[in-house]
Amino acid sequence: MAYIFDPPRPPSVAIVGSDARFPVRRIFCVGRNYADHVREMGNDPKSEPPIFFSKPADAVVESGAAIPYPAHTENLHHEVELVIALGAGGANIAEADALSRVWGYGVGVDLTRRDRQAEAKKAGTPWDTAKGFDLSAPISALTPAAQAGDVRNARIWLKVNGETRQDSNTHGMIWSVPEIIAGLSRWWELKPGDLIFTGSPEGVSALKRGDKIECGVEGLSELRFGIQ
Ligand code: MN
Repeated sequence: MAYIFDPPRPPSVAIVGSDARFPVRRIFCVGRNYADHVREMGNDPKSEPPIFFSKPADAVVESGAAIPYPAHTENLHHEVELVIALGAGGANIAEADALSRVWGYGVGVDLTRRDRQAEAKKAGTPWDTAKGFDLSAPISALTPAAQAGDVRNARIWLKVNGETRQDSNTHGMIWSVPEIIAGLSRWWELKPGDLIFTGSPEGVSALKRGDKIECGVEGLSELRFGIQ
């Protein structure tokens, strides 16, 4: 079979301590997964449960990058998140089996055009322009699960220009890592190469040109990037 032009190579993410790379198939995301973040967005975590959305796979950006401030927003927000990297997939995965699908973990930032998201929420329109834009998914090098420590009870933090903006713990997740994998697999058949952004804790705020962002989850490689 011939293609009419050469297909692009898959987007990929670095791996800690290895020259091999993790090929990205899809990027799934969880929204509203920390109660204090749901409250800071003006919502009630009891009546508004977490939700799934997605970003394009080629939205990934390597740690160390300088990301141009995106067009069509005057309120670009950071959301630091634990990212699950799947090495195996399946449909209708049981919670008890979910962790066996995990290859490793990373730290990501779900960059968000907050002004466009607020409009979409109000109008009931899709979130793609708010969440799924080019370069909207900076992610650290991935750490294999066996070396990652207990990511379900880990400090998660983000600093802008050295000042702490987000400082919380992953035990605050409303849907746990196994619940997220099991839940997603009821909507989509998951496959190796899928990344899952698991939601942001409280403290999200606006970024501006020239900002330097550093963030981490205890036990994982840190993520750094700039906005230019
Ligand atoms: Mn998010």
